[in-house]
Amino acid sequence: MAALLTPNRALIAFVLGLALLPLFAAQFTVTIVNYIGLAALVSLGLVLLTGIGGLTSFGQAAFVGLGAYATAYLTTRHGMSPWGTLLVGMVITTAVSLALGFITLRLSGHFLPLGTIAWGISLYYLFSNINGLGGAGGIDGIPPVDLFGLELGSSRAFFYVIWATLLAAIITTQNMLDSREGRAMRSLRAMTMTEAMGINTLRYRMVLFMIAAQFACVSGWLYAHLQRFVNPTPFSLGQGIEYLFMAVLGGAAAVWGAVFGATAVSFLKEWLQDWLPRLLGATGNFEMVVFGLLTIIVLHRARDGVWPILMRFIPQRELAKAVEPALPLPRRDVPERGSEVLQVINVTKRFGGLVANNRMNLTVRAGEVMALIGPNGAGKSTLFNCISGVSPASEGEIRFMGQRIEGLGSRAIAKLGMSRSFQHVRLNQDMTVLENVAIGAHLRGRKNFVQSAWRLDREEERRLLWEAAHQLQRCGLGEHLFDTCGSLPLGKQRIVEIARALSSDPTLLLLDEPAAGLRHLEKRALAELLAKLRGEGMAILLVEHDMDFVMGLADRVLVMEFGEYLAEGLPKEIQTNPKVLEAYLGGVDE
Ligand code: ADP
Ligand code: MG
Repeated sequence: MAALLTPNRALIAFVLGLALLPLFAAQFTVTIVNYIGLAALVSLGLVLLTGIGGLTSFGQAAFVGLGAYATAYLTTRHGMSPWGTLLVGMVITTAVSLALGFITLRLSGHFLPLGTIAWGISLYYLFSNINGLGGAGGIDGIPPVDLFGLELGSSRAFFYVIWATLLAAIITTQNMLDSREGRAMRSLRAMTMTEAMGINTLRYRMVLFMIAAQFACVSGWLYAHLQRFVNPTPFSLGQGIEYLFMAVLGGAAAVWGAVFGATAVSFLKEWLQDWLPRLLGATGNFEMVVFGLLTIIVLHRARDGVWPILMRFIPQRELAKAVEPALPLPRRDVPERGSEVLQVINVTKRFGGLVANNRMNLTVRAGEVMALIGPNGAGKSTLFNCISGVSPASEGEIRFMGQRIEGLGSRAIAKLGMSRSFQHVRLNQDMTVLENVAIGAHLRGRKNFVQSAWRLDREEERRLLWEAAHQLQRCGLGEHLFDTCGSLPLGKQRIVEIARALSSDPTLLLLDEPAAGLRHLEKRALAELLAKLRGEGMAILLVEHDMDFVMGLADRVLVMEFGEYLAEGLPKEIQTNPKVLEAYLGGVDE
């Protein structure tokens, strides 16, 4: 039985069912399925925004209103064609979403949803109060849409326009998420890591915000030409909350969850509106109370919504289990061996009154491994953060490839050819190992989200994945390409971070405790890999506690204690340095 239901067959049956529905179903059913399609388009945008990007918006109904009012006004008052007004609506939506996104997407925590409530309400009152938009009465007499001379006046005919639009939106969204651009979008919640891989997180939040707004605008345009009149009511904050509920209930991280959520909420609402007043013996919008309670239950019991639970009963599409060979990506010029790649000059870092780094100096050359050691809390990770721009230095100068970088952010520094791993792994646990590592190669691709939505990025995508697979192979993780990162032991996850850093083709590699959690043989393989990279001319700066590992690999060692320089020299010199021995044997936890 299960074999009969494959994902492809399920999709074909669904589309076939949709295609036949207007021919046989009652008018009431066609109407409700039309509204489900319109709502699903808006909540698809919210799946992107909330489920993928981690940004909550209560204001999407306002963008639906923009699309609806733009066409209502321009077709009735200025005789424009609906296709022209669709374009105008989308241009207006782009401008409005960019302006609102620019202000609200910089807000953090609870301020962002509050911001969306604010503009959601403002736009709603605009629709009600602008002269010429008909006030509370709205605008009627909106013409039907004309498609190749065919007038789509009936809701049965328009059904096909609505659902074809929705399916196209779902498929292109799926394509986009399965690409370089999609990987960046899916990493937005891990902002520090994502920026350190050279990805402009604000830009991707803006893109998601704009796409979600466009989906809402198109839904509004469709709505206006289905209904043939508009008034402000359907674009209120209450409706915005309902759209969000659809996305959360369906599954905020699954594109089909939007369709499920819209369907479930629409039928539930119909049913509750019928029954609750009878049960309670009074009239009112009681369904909103039930929706509110359900939201809380879903958030507690099924954070990812209902769709992933349903999917357990349907066989899943097999992931491709092989990476196609492709041309290698172009590489950066390697600096001359022995030339100074990184210079840290008198760098101080303060956290309030705590001086975590005090006038630190260090140099790393091309083709050498420099080790930074010191007891826990000495300030090693802090220095890494200063160098990589994750948390800028309070004072001092840092030069990378001859350029001052202490004022640059981690994204700009990554572009110059520095890449790093983190002491506490920062991986996207739900993505595969291969996808995580491909994020490191982000800067080596160019194709944008429109190209990936339309699959015009496949050649580049193959090259990026091939690069990621190659780096994983080198790091000894070739067997784990398609495992989710969360399923790997912590030691291996650290190696995934190294492969991710290598995918960026760095000149300087910063590794914060790369051997922690590794077994003996794994440590030896890692040391061999790092020695090989050094042989290729890479500059490596690493923090490590395993002294055998450090002393066997490093060309020079710098010792820190209490945020201060303690000693520097060849491994042999450090091993016999009395100050170092005292620091390590003097009872400090190591
Ligand atoms: P190490 O990596 O050498 O173990 P760290 O650089 O992590 O040490 O920490 C050095 C000191 O700075 C510690 O005392 C730590 O508590 C403090 N510290 C590190 N990060 C922060 C921060 N973000 N805010 C305040 N104090 C910090
Ligand atoms: Mg540390």
